[in-house]
Amino acid sequence: MMTSARQSLHIGPFDGGSLEAQIIAMLHELAHVVGAIPHDGLSPSGLNQSQANTELILQHCKNAAKASAKLVNPAGQAIGSVRAAAR
Ligand SMILES: [Zn+2]
Repeated sequence: MMTSARQSLHIGPFDGGSLEAQIIAMLHELAHVVGAIPHDGLSPSGLNQSQANTELILQHCKNAAKASAKLVNPAGQAIGSVRAAAR
């Protein structure tokens, strides 16, 4: 089934498909593995915990994510463009 509705995904200030968003998502998951943030849980309140965890990661890692993304992609091109240019 196809729908015409499109939703934009954002992680904090970053577009969902951006390298910065991918870095923040990876750091969120890594923080679970090392026990730096609590489990997200499965209940509706768990969603709030997931968002709180992401906010914590953003608070500590937002600038590092921006800097890392800039190292990989100095011109700020869309990820698909970077992959095409690397070929
Ligand atoms: Zn999580």
